[in-house]
Amino acid sequence: MSYHLSTAKLHFYRQCPQAYYFRYECHLRPTAFAGGPAEMGTALHQALAKIYQDWHYQDPVPGVDWVDHCWQQHTTDLTPSQIFEGQAILRRYYRTFIGNRSVLNRPVATEGKVQGHLNINNLEFSLSGRYDRLDWLSDGLELIDYKSSKAVKEMSPDQINLQLGLYYLALEQRYHQRLKRLSIIYLRSGQVVSFDATPFHKEQIEASVCNLAMRLRAEKTWEPQMGDHCHRCPYLSYCPAHQPQPQPIPQTSQRFQGLQLALL
Ligand code: SF4
Repeated sequence: MSYHLSTAKLHFYRQCPQAYYFRYECHLRPTAFAGGPAEMGTALHQALAKIYQDWHYQDPVPGVDWVDHCWQQHTTDLTPSQIFEGQAILRRYYRTFIGNRSVLNRPVATEGKVQGHLNINNLEFSLSGRYDRLDWLSDGLELIDYKSSKAVKEMSPDQINLQLGLYYLALEQRYHQRLKRLSIIYLRSGQVVSFDATPFHKEQIEASVCNLAMRLRAEKTWEPQMGDHCHRCPYLSYCPAHQPQPQPIPQTSQRFQGLQLALL
């Protein structure tokens, strides 16, 4: 049996074991967060995947009409103003990242999922992550992540390092190639932020998973770790650190106590 991890899961655990317990051990669904217009983000991601995936690559660079065409395929659930806004975002993307190039390179994959495996102390871990686009570089791979929300949520250095390590490990296992770079493209501004990946990031994720494995073996209390993150925690009403009488965890959500020991 393998224990499935993602960077979100690892980050969650490092931030607060109690919240990790609610979410991943009890499978307690987070209470509603203001999510924003998800349809717009989904449509932009799908259109970008189509732009790269379905271009025939017989001509070196598509025209902007190809971008408009791909956008129109994904606007069914959008309001007229979102359709207009999305088109403007993608046209800016075209001018910045496609139209000014002599050649559009075919990516390795778009909208993909990679999975890596680690065996630590006889515990099998699978680590997975999703990406928007994976490109070849002359000396490795570049992973591209598109961000489409209006409110840009900065990732912490810990989240970035975990992502770099996870993708480094998983891509090396899958493609036998090194991840050289993770680039985040902010679609609304056209800004690109890149992070270099190194073997050190892989070592870090291995150490994090090893640490988690040890703690999962011993964990009994899932100590709450209070901090600034608490004000965004979806489990506030269940949290013993914040509520003198926390809301009981619904029976249907509770997993069998001690199941983590079955992984040994
Ligand atoms: S409110 Fe804070 S301490 Fe409580 S579970 Fe959430 S993150 Fe942890």
